Amino acid sequence: MESSKYVVIGAGLMGSSTAWHLASGGQEVTLLERDVPAGAFGSSHGSSRIFRYAYPNETYARLVKEAAPLWSQLERESERTLFQQVGALDFGAERNPTHLSEVLDRVGIEHRLVEVEEARERWPQYAFDTDVMWQPTAGVVDAEGAVDAMVTLAAKAGAQVHTHWEVAEVVEAPTTGYIVRSTEGREIHAAEVIVAAGGWLPNILRRLSLPKGFLDALPTFEVRQEQVFHFPYEEVLDDADWPTLIHMFREGDALRGDETKRAIYALPGGRNAENRGLKVALHNGGKVLPSAAQQDGKVDPRNRDWVTRYVERYVPGVVPEPYAEATCLFTNTPTEDFIIERVDGITVVSTCSGHGAKFGPLIGLLASGVATGNGSVPQEFRVPR
Ligand SMILES: Cc1cc2nc3c(=O)[nH]c(=O)nc-3n(C[C@H](O)[C@H](O)[C@H](O)COP(=O)(O)OP(=O)(O)OC[C@H]3O[C@@H](n4cnc5c(N)ncnc54)[C@H](O)[C@@H]3O)c2cc1C
Repeated sequence: MESSKYVVIGAGLMGSSTAWHLASGGQEVTLLERDVPAGAFGSSHGSSRIFRYAYPNETYARLVKEAAPLWSQLERESERTLFQQVGALDFGAERNPTHLSEVLDRVGIEHRLVEVEEARERWPQYAFDTDVMWQPTAGVVDAEGAVDAMVTLAAKAGAQVHTHWEVAEVVEAPTTGYIVRSTEGREIHAAEVIVAAGGWLPNILRRLSLPKGFLDALPTFEVRQEQVFHFPYEEVLDDADWPTLIHMFREGDALRGDETKRAIYALPGGRNAENRGLKVALHNGGKVLPSAAQQDGKVDPRNRDWVTRYVERYVPGVVPEPYAEATCLFTNTPTEDFIIERVDGITVVSTCSGHGAKFGPLIGLLASGVATGNGSVPQEFRVPR
């Protein structure tokens, strides 16, 4: 039987990062992927994700600061450009720019609170309804490019990479460690298993030989099929002129008769959008699925209409007609905190809630530290037992 000290399940951002760090640290590692790395049905495909420091929770802002040099390292080692510095804008009554600014003061990140009038003059491509938090050193990361880079570097450092290898179950081996078994009956013996299965985690959790107490203590994972839309820039602007945006506000919900909190994000679409359009989406606007296996890849026309109306009102610098669209999976925890926790020889990694990409190269370092016993993670990531 094939054997590997570490087996990593899932080659999205988190699994590929874990394999990269383990292999480059001299560990024997095998990376298993049911499809292809950063495949179209997971969460890590596509060329653009927001890299911003603004977090209401200081722990996460500090982790972004830790992630930044790892993105540079990944760019250096892979000889690829994976980060574009375009800056980031956060605004809206529900985003509380003043609080974000206080957090970044404490963490030591360059930023400025810009009054609404000045913001309207400086970035006329957006329409602002409050003061704005400006982070000039934020930008956009290339998620799919990063997965490709980390898988390539992991393989160069000796990792085995198996694609179209779907894990059906992980069972305890007769003497020590685990047997990882595929849907086709192939087997690999592993001393340690790291599970970074994204939206498939709810599917596979109960087939990993995890203790019941641990399973019961895990938060409920909510998988959503999210939708993003690309709107063409008016002619004078290209990607470099578009800071990313997060806008949070409340609006009346006629059906429910109350107010609903909305979070919108927008960023240059990059390569996937032929570098000529802004990617805009309603955060948590997609339908909830039992797990990734039930996704249909269909865009809801009501979501497209809502985002288009938003763009008409708040993004005067684009033509309010989407020229491309895509679906992508969120795997949410109730608090939007990440999970990295090891029990016996199995490490569960679930770091999405729609904001994990910016931490990609760091998550693998943290997860490999937990799996090898040489590192720790913030308390927020632990599963209370
Ligand atoms: C629309 C969208 C926008 C986002 N925007 C941002 C952003 O602006 N900024 C930001 O920081 N983050 C953002 N994110 C979040 C970020 O992209 C995710 O946190 C990250 O991609 C999650 O990666 P992952 O490796 O956990 O999951 P995935 O990329 O889904 O990887 C999991 C992999 O596991 C494989 N797998 C599953 N089950 C098995 C099995 N049984 N056997 C073998 N392989 C298996 C899957 O095929 C998949 O390739 C966004 C996400 C989406 C969907």
